[in-house]
Amino acid sequence: MNIAKVIVDVPSQNTNRLFDYGIPSKYLHVVQPGVRVIVPFGPRKILGYVISMTDHSEFNKLRNIEDVLDITPALTPELLQVGKWLSNQTLSYYVSCLQVMLPQVLKAKYRKELWKLNEEDFPEELEQLFAGRGVIDYSEFENSGITYQQLRKYVDEGVVDVHYEVKSRETKKTTTIVEPLLDPLQLEESLEDLPKQATKQRVIVGYFVEHQEPLPKKNLLSLTNTSAASLKPLVEQGILKEYKQEVLRDPYGHREFERSAPFPLTEEQQEAIHPILHSLADRKHDVFLLHGVTGSGKTEIYLQSIQKVLDEDKEAIMLVPEIALTPQMVERFKGRFGSKVAVLHSGLSAGEKYDEWRKIQREEVHVVVGARSAIFAPFKNLGIIIIDEEHESSYKQEDRTRYHARDVAIERGKIHSCPVVLGSATPALETYARAVKGNYHMLTLSKRMNNASMPSTELIDMRDELHQGNRSMFSRVLLDKLKDRIDRGEQAVLFLNRRGYATFVMCRDCGHVKECPHCDIALTYHRRQERLKCHYCSHEEPMPNQCPECESKTIRYFGTGTQKVEEVLQELIPEARVIRMDVDTTRKKGAHERLLNDFGDKKADILLGTQMIAKGLDFGNVTLVGILAADALLNLPDFRASEKTFQLITQVSGRAGRHKLAGEVVVQTYTPEHYSIQLASEYDYESFFQEEMKLRKGFHYPPYYFLTLFTVSHPNQLKVQEVTQKIVQFMRKKLSEEADVLGPTPSALTRINNRYRYQCMVKYKDEPEQRKLIQRILHYYEDEMKEENGLQITVDFQPYQLM
Ligand code: ADP
Ligand code: ZN
Ligand code: ZN
Repeated sequence: MNIAKVIVDVPSQNTNRLFDYGIPSKYLHVVQPGVRVIVPFGPRKILGYVISMTDHSEFNKLRNIEDVLDITPALTPELLQVGKWLSNQTLSYYVSCLQVMLPQVLKAKYRKELWKLNEEDFPEELEQLFAGRGVIDYSEFENSGITYQQLRKYVDEGVVDVHYEVKSRETKKTTTIVEPLLDPLQLEESLEDLPKQATKQRVIVGYFVEHQEPLPKKNLLSLTNTSAASLKPLVEQGILKEYKQEVLRDPYGHREFERSAPFPLTEEQQEAIHPILHSLADRKHDVFLLHGVTGSGKTEIYLQSIQKVLDEDKEAIMLVPEIALTPQMVERFKGRFGSKVAVLHSGLSAGEKYDEWRKIQREEVHVVVGARSAIFAPFKNLGIIIIDEEHESSYKQEDRTRYHARDVAIERGKIHSCPVVLGSATPALETYARAVKGNYHMLTLSKRMNNASMPSTELIDMRDELHQGNRSMFSRVLLDKLKDRIDRGEQAVLFLNRRGYATFVMCRDCGHVKECPHCDIALTYHRRQERLKCHYCSHEEPMPNQCPECESKTIRYFGTGTQKVEEVLQELIPEARVIRMDVDTTRKKGAHERLLNDFGDKKADILLGTQMIAKGLDFGNVTLVGILAADALLNLPDFRASEKTFQLITQVSGRAGRHKLAGEVVVQTYTPEHYSIQLASEYDYESFFQEEMKLRKGFHYPPYYFLTLFTVSHPNQLKVQEVTQKIVQFMRKKLSEEADVLGPTPSALTRINNRYRYQCMVKYKDEPEQRKLIQRILHYYEDEMKEENGLQITVDFQPYQLM
């Protein structure tokens, strides 16, 4: 087969198809599906992905592949298939779907190197090529006469590896290692020989008398409190050796993890894990919803299911939300499975991500723990996919290829005939509804471990506080309890919503929030025009100057930031030691981990933070959780606002009283009677589900209806309105009577970067023609969308961000 069918890296409607290229004979055995190639395209040379191979083409004159970038295919046949599926699902270009599955460094052309991996048995022809070096430029191989086929064999055998040089300093990681050249006895002798005044040199040699293992120079110098100047003479004298080592940049690799053994499962856990093990044994694809309160031992079930998969020589993907990917979480996995685990999270540099990915590809690890994109881990024998906190909206990608990791998981689960486990204390309504219907298999953990009870929750009505003269953002109850914890040497977590700067309007006297009369959604305050607008339909009204319910004048927009809260807190309780965790304080690499460690080491009494602290934290000494403004989320212009509020209160409450000490939760709210706040404080998911489902049904929202959200943007407001209007009209005309087509409406974020944004929302039950219709729209506007800073139309089939 000497013709390759290639998807080229030109994201556009016209190029969203396969192009045929000839394969020059020298590449015959390396070109295969999933390999990235460089191909001529018009006057340019561009990146492409080989999808399949064939013997004949319907075109006569084929141009040839110019270069082959991968020795090992970057994408497995299965991922190529998933890419195709994804492209249909999300109406994205095939090439974008392939790229979304790959680490950053593989999306462009980087300089390549060959790295020697294996000291012993280095084949003669490679010995000649490398001539004593550990790393050579890839071009040296290309000029060497060694065939690609042969190189591929060496790569497969683990003798050498192809490495991508990543230019930026931050990502390029080679470490200088220092190693003793003498044995301990000889070292002691040389210690004698060193001049007495060379104290620093003596410390270094002394160190190696005690420790013979090589170690990074940096560590050595800091351990011995010496400098490179003292090290140099020792290297020159041949006592020590310095060399560069290409470390795989495992961010946790420097740490030893205490190995943990599986717990004997409780009866409830056994009942829950049993069906999962069953479908593992039967090699069957099933979707499980593991519904268990926080601290009920879900993670232990994940760990033991994964163990089963590893015993069968298969692989596991474990997804956790980015913010839950805490060192604590990673520790549990590394502790159980040791070096078999790769970790993928956004804190890694491009190079580090690539290294972790490469470990998966080389089958050096069998478990990957990661955020959303880890769902594309290139495993070939997947045995299980687990999504923890499955309700988290961060599993949905919000740009370009708008996929939901849950859907990808289920698709891959089908292909590999393996179970998918969705776990949560507060499942997404869609998921729970499917489990109730029997489409997913429901597994329940109703009790916390060690019979720990859920923390008791107290709802504080902030309207009462105001009426009694307390204008502060802290209720008296919360303040008292905080002081009490400090006295007792216990700790507290204070949670403020990230969207503390929310833009809804609320009466401080009665808690009344202005809502859209048509959409059951809080109206958004637009400061400039002093108007309130609905972001779903086009309803708008002037900003009221008194409350329509109680005529109070204290109606105003609502919001505070964490920094402000910290200041107030310090004024009210000057002795409190506070750690603030938000985007500002965690920007630096490693800051997140450091702050949490400090809190774990009891260097602070109060951890104050945003969403970041809502998940996964497990500190035994935390006995109080305060939620400052439970309403902030409740009134977002989003039909999921109640669901998110319920989830968040439950999650945050789960941080208290996880171990021996009992926990308490204080929820401050202006609407204590709201069902999501009431039911969350009672940990009553079931009732919340029933209640919320009624509303969803009434207002035509998921899970009863599907949504499609069009967002149109352009620098010219008239243009945006006009295009959105056309889309609305077209969809109204073509879709069935049952579909609601809403719009055009300005988006909640009406202008970003000087581009106006409008939207059209479609609510529907079953519209088999919908994708084709949308493709026609996109095709129609194709030329205008190609213009620089021109028209943009995005289509989201599972919108989570409605702004
Ligand atoms: P979840 O993931 O549901 O929040 P975890 O798996 O973190 O719950 O379990 C809560 C705590 O109980 C953890 O400290 C965990 O180590 C412990 N644990 C879990 N299962 C068992 C068990 N079968 N026996 C003893 N302790 C357990
Ligand atoms: Zn009022
Ligand atoms: Zn409305």
